[in-house]
Amino acid sequence: MTRTATCACGECSVTVTGEPLFGGLCHCQNCRQRTGSAFGWQAYWPEARVTLSGPLQRYDLAPEWGQQRLFCPRCGSTLAWQTMSRPGEFGVAIGGMEPPLPAPDASYRDSRRFDWVILPDRCAASG
Ligand SMILES: [Zn+2]
Ligand SMILES: [Zn+2]
Repeated sequence: MTRTATCACGECSVTVTGEPLFGGLCHCQNCRQRTGSAFGWQAYWPEARVTLSGPLQRYDLAPEWGQQRLFCPRCGSTLAWQTMSRPGEFGVAIGGMEPPLPAPDASYRDSRRFDWVILPDRCAASG
């Protein structure tokens, strides 16, 4: 299966093949700031199964995070990132993909989750 995450203006995209290594929600403040929402939703694929297209720009997050984000310079959507904690992989903001999408396996920084965000049991709390 091939899936494509597209930015809000359509200029940039990230195409992945096969199922992700894992996927999850994250309730940390940085994911909230990145998305402007209550949590981030992402999944990770090996680099070899990820194709970037369009004039994506890289943004270096704080060095201690060791993360580079790829975003559309026209509309500002974050589409993907790489992080030193997951070498050889791309994290992809999968909300930009058309369904069907894999449900999240985990809820990261779950202790920061807003109490009105109710998740299914299969989405294991972590952190
Ligand atoms: Zn765009
Ligand atoms: Zn986060």
